[in-house]
Amino acid sequence: MTRPTILVVEDEASIQRVVRTYLESAGYQVISSENGAEALALAQAHRPDLIILDLNLPGMDGMEVAARLRERSDVYILMLTARAEEADRVAGLKIGADDYLTKPFSPRELVARVEAILRRQRRAAPPDNVRRFRHLTIDPDRYETTTPNGPLELTPTEFKVLWELALHAGRVLTREQLLDRVWGIDFYGNERVVDVYVGQVRRKLEEATGEPLIETVRGVGYKLVDQPA
Ligand code: CA
Repeated sequence: MTRPTILVVEDEASIQRVVRTYLESAGYQVISSENGAEALALAQAHRPDLIILDLNLPGMDGMEVAARLRERSDVYILMLTARAEEADRVAGLKIGADDYLTKPFSPRELVARVEAILRRQRRAAPPDNVRRFRHLTIDPDRYETTTPNGPLELTPTEFKVLWELALHAGRVLTREQLLDRVWGIDFYGNERVVDVYVGQVRRKLEEATGEPLIETVRGVGYKLVDQPA
């Protein structure tokens, strides 16, 4: 996993330095800016995972920067404010900041808040349905199959055949089971169609990877023999 990138927008050099030092030693990649306009450009170019945004900036203030960020992204924002007034905090959260810290703050507290926000992000991430093997990565939501040599072109039916085999990797699926799962129980035809499609998928996999990844279990059915990644 790549290290999360954090953009620090703070015009006070001493604070920026301390924040950077603590975040870097906590394992984050840090980029920084002293003004809002540059921060917007950096956010666009680097797509940080989180932005630490000082409210009081020369020129475009933090409130304005947050509003403009929100127009085009839902990046996490942690506001820094010197003002303790409740109204400012509420305004900051309303404009879309995910959390705020009032100055002076402890750098450890800042790192803890950053970690909490990024954990939130991981929890909210959609479940990953992708199946990963040594020679194959199969993504059912995108209908994509990738091999170490690049993407593999499969027809929708071929993809469904491979997906069913992947769900039961290492175990045999009978022709009848494949027929039911891929073509549906209402399919009017015989199990010969399964042999044809499995044959096509097997040939494509072997061409792409050089490996015989689908095994025939004579008189029974087929199984995918690729090892889990
Ligand atoms: Ca400031």
